Amino acid sequence: MAEVLVLVEHADGEPKKVTAELLTLARTFGEPAAVFLGAPGTYAKAKEYLAQYGAAKVYVAESDDIAGYIGGPAAEILAKLVGEASPAAVLVAATADSREIAARVAARTDSGLIWDATALSADLVATQGIFGGSTIVTSKVTKGVPVVVVRPNSTAPEAAPSTPAEQTVEVALSDAAKGAKVVDRVVEAKSGRPDLTEAQVVVSGGRGLGAAEHFALVEKLADTLGAAVGASRAATDAGWYPHQNQVGQTGKTVSPQLYIAVGISGAIQHRAGMQTSKTIVAVNKDPEAPIFEFADYGLVGDLFNVVPQLTAEIEKRK
Ligand code: FAD
Repeated sequence: MAEVLVLVEHADGEPKKVTAELLTLARTFGEPAAVFLGAPGTYAKAKEYLAQYGAAKVYVAESDDIAGYIGGPAAEILAKLVGEASPAAVLVAATADSREIAARVAARTDSGLIWDATALSADLVATQGIFGGSTIVTSKVTKGVPVVVVRPNSTAPEAAPSTPAEQTVEVALSDAAKGAKVVDRVVEAKSGRPDLTEAQVVVSGGRGLGAAEHFALVEKLADTLGAAVGASRAATDAGWYPHQNQVGQTGKTVSPQLYIAVGISGAIQHRAGMQTSKTIVAVNKDPEAPIFEFADYGLVGDLFNVVPQLTAEIEKRK
């Protein structure tokens, strides 16, 4: 059975849930081989998790250069592994860093790239959103090794304990790989809420909230549901909520079980980042708002009345 390379998504060695999802998906059409790329000493934190979710093999490359440069080192190492292992496919998560790496790997290996897959069949036919997510198509790579960028929450992770073989990968980088140095990283403030891209429930607020302090309504509803908080670009541009919480074409892509949009009109650029959510609920006072065209449930009303009532009702039923 051919290997399927899975790029491990982690924060300083702590694997993100999407890694388990990708390993589970990889098992449906090959032998999952995790590729761990990180700073020295970080793999130890991921080892057990990768074994728990069925990695048959782990390629480990640890170097300060991997975190010290944008995309280049990781892409160079992964492309080299693609050349050596001839895998059936390469799976990466649809996160900002990994998208960058995936594009570079596809270019380096002269392979086809599938973006934003929400499903991938055993014969490698992917379901993906194109044109900013406005159209859903099925696609198959016909050239090289398919590099598939998969949205978090597309697959339910299933444990499958294994004892993976480990292979240390030598890190000998070209100058070209070190094209863009990281000089600073914005550390996301810890909110105690789930990671936006991985959350099962997301509550997002938009311009309809009218002011930064009204995001407290969204946060309260989110906390009642154990949800992450998102925002439209209108809200982040106004400085009402941090840009790192923006959902949409130029923000984060989310695919939770439940997405609640509060005071958001549903512009195409917002839709691009959330329309693959399993169930979409919209609260908007304008019955003609575009979001009602693709929401599963719509609440027409003033969010300042609806949201506190919704929060209280959910609280009562907990
Ligand atoms: P609005 O469109 O102003 O909608 C506010 C909604 O709130 C309205 O529907 C209104 O009826 C409702 N409302 C008002 N008061 C109340 C109330 N009291 N109760 C209930 N409802 C109320 N946008 C993104 O979100 N993410 C992106 O990543 C993104 N990227 C972009 C990239 C480009 C290149 C461009 C050009 C635009 C991008 N945008 C993005 C902006 C996008 O086009 C919209 O302008 C933006 O999504 C609108 O945000 P909104 O829905 O919060 O505001």
